[in-house]
Amino acid sequence: MSSGIYAGRKKLNVAIVAAEIGGQTALQPEFYNYPGFVDVDGYKLIQNMKKQVSGLAVDFKDPWTAKRIEPVDGIFRITSATDEALEARAVLIATGGKPRRLNVPGEEAYENKGVTYCATCDAPLFGGKITAVVGGGNTGTEAALLLAKYSPKVYLLHRGPELKADAITREQIEKESKIEVLYNAITTEIIGENNRVNGLRYSDKSGEVRTLVVEGVFLAIGFLPNSAVVEGVVARNAFGEITVDPKTNMTSQAGIFAAGDVTNIPYKQTVIAAGEAAKAALAAHQWLAGQK
Ligand SMILES: Cc1cc2nc3c(=O)[nH]c(=O)nc-3n(C[C@H](O)[C@H](O)[C@H](O)COP(=O)(O)OP(=O)(O)OC[C@H]3O[C@@H](n4cnc5c(N)ncnc54)[C@H](O)[C@@H]3O)c2cc1C
Repeated sequence: MSSGIYAGRKKLNVAIVAAEIGGQTALQPEFYNYPGFVDVDGYKLIQNMKKQVSGLAVDFKDPWTAKRIEPVDGIFRITSATDEALEARAVLIATGGKPRRLNVPGEEAYENKGVTYCATCDAPLFGGKITAVVGGGNTGTEAALLLAKYSPKVYLLHRGPELKADAITREQIEKESKIEVLYNAITTEIIGENNRVNGLRYSDKSGEVRTLVVEGVFLAIGFLPNSAVVEGVVARNAFGEITVDPKTNMTSQAGIFAAGDVTNIPYKQTVIAAGEAAKAALAAHQWLAGQK
């Protein structure tokens, strides 16, 4: 939507193609950190963006799921799941992604009722409440450190014998007295009452199932970028994120740009995705002008 605003205002002949308009943002019932918007939910934020794009000469194609994007004879062909084809001189991929699920009982039932996947977004909602973070990589450890600013006690559950985070973050974890790390801890269930989380069960090294009394569970076990559409066409990193030039958002394939959660740009947040997409649209405009 953000790139649509910029590309539309540059009078590019542009279409926004989406499996579902709004992505992860539209699903968030509360939104506190998009500058300039107070008391707005994700759906309303997206509606505002759509209104802004609708005033411009930008086509919408949705629902339209891209199956493949590839260069063909000097242009790019985008093929849909139903084998419809679009052609473009430049493509911006902003297909986002999704947090990896733990797939344990209670996870789905208590999502947004104490279970969350985004500490940056939700940590302040857990002031004064005991919380747990599942995942001992960089995301999980950083989430625990952030939560320790709000929670009186944070359990950090890691399934292995030592944290996978980088050394500096591990040192910070050791120094933070509010964080208790539970090693070899396999989360088996998230439990609750009255539609709110009130605990988490895990099995320890010996296989014994233990229960923690917590009001918030932050799941940080990885992120799955939706980058399969360009597999083998543009370079991706070990996590499947599309690698981009930070100045122009150009991928390894000239003419294909990428922005937002699907890329290797850190900090998966809406305002960052929007800013990156604006930058990518401007860079695409400049690149197209240079191709004439
Ligand atoms: C639980 C949760 C809470 C969050 N809370 C906040 C918050 O409070 N504040 C904040 O800033 N961020 C928050 N985030 C992060 C934020 O939602 C993302 O950073 C942001 O949505 C990324 O935007 P994006 O456009 O890159 O990707 P997405 O929002 O994932 O959008 C991707 C779009 O691409 C479409 N798409 C995907 N594949 C295809 C395909 N093959 N063909 C066609 N279309 C396709 C999708 O339908 C969708 O429209 C939260 C995330 C989660 C999971």
